[in-house]
Amino acid sequence: MNLFNYNALPINVHFGAGRLKETASILQEYGYQSVLIITTPEQEQDGQKLATQLGELCVGVYPKAVMHVPVEVANQAIAEAGRLGVDCCLALGGGSTIGLAKAIALKTALPIVAIPTTYAGSEMTTVYGMTENRLKTTGKDPKVLPKVVIYDPELSLTLPAKISACSGMNAMAHAIEALYAQDKNPIIQLMAIESIRALSEALPQIVQDPHNISAREKATYGAWLAGICLGSVGMAIHHKICHTLGGTYNLPHAEAHAISLAYSVHYNRNADVEAMTKLAQALGGEDHTQVGQLIYALNQKLNIPMALKDIGLPEDGPQTVARIVCDSPYYNPRAYDYPELEALLQRAYQGLPPQ
Ligand code: NAD
Repeated sequence: MNLFNYNALPINVHFGAGRLKETASILQEYGYQSVLIITTPEQEQDGQKLATQLGELCVGVYPKAVMHVPVEVANQAIAEAGRLGVDCCLALGGGSTIGLAKAIALKTALPIVAIPTTYAGSEMTTVYGMTENRLKTTGKDPKVLPKVVIYDPELSLTLPAKISACSGMNAMAHAIEALYAQDKNPIIQLMAIESIRALSEALPQIVQDPHNISAREKATYGAWLAGICLGSVGMAIHHKICHTLGGTYNLPHAEAHAISLAYSVHYNRNADVEAMTKLAQALGGEDHTQVGQLIYALNQKLNIPMALKDIGLPEDGPQTVARIVCDSPYYNPRAYDYPELEALLQRAYQGLPPQ
């Protein structure tokens, strides 16, 4: 066995359908007494319901989280947390909401309790992001890592089928890239494979019936494991492509991940044969050369957008993205080849199978 390092991040997880009801006692268990609930405007009502449930433990709901954490939004939220004198931020929502709580924590060192309602995985990482003058910068800081995470799969029942599928494929992308990460290790690989299996079983069931609670439980479990992967090891070409699609063209985060994943893994299919064979097997195939087609077929089953042009990439996008990716690459197990990457991104633009 090769040498490896493994560092577990210190997060307390409470998992299971219906656990939202325990939020007050969980907060008390950790000593939090005056909590600010953060949500998006769309999830404000859920935040208000939780506030009522928490009674005196909650001092307010701040329903202003938006995608990519604009710095003005972060500054207003930091001021509000200071004005209210809270001792904890409770993020109820997806990556955007948790992102705003992280921006507050970065400045104030306030602890975060996260209650995720999508599969994006931010709650398991020390990564924060902020946007100023249309430029998103990211960084890592242990201060932004949630202290406590409550995973209640019932909260995802309201997430529409298409968003669930894309968000689930966003999670799967974290697990897949962990398989061939520069700092991969056997523990994270076990979690990654378990995550890929759980997500690939659960997502088609959710698309058929978004109210299938056992599928929701399995997807939440898979997403948690994928979040651990994202928080533990470095990502590669796929995440670089998606950060470029989001940063340069403002494409929707989960959809961009879902569509591009088939092409990224196809690009890497021969680069780490052991990892790609494990991936093929977890997806129900056998051969490492099939991985791109297996993800493409899964996306077809999930009925999600298949082409980058359908989610807003302009015609010259593939060349520009390939150029940016090759000029400022992340680690990848295979060297960056501009013509091949551009040709693959052209296929992703059209929604054609990777080949
Ligand atoms: P999101 O948080 O932007 O949510 C999308 C929409 O879905 C919002 O309107 C939200 O209110 C709504 N929503 C969320 N859960 C719902 C539910 N259960 N029912 C109904 N509506 C619901 O989407 P996301 O994909 O979770 O997060 C994307 C953002 O997170 C991006 O900015 C991305 O960069 C960031 N992110 C960060 C990390 C990290 O480690 N820092 C990891 C993953 C994603």
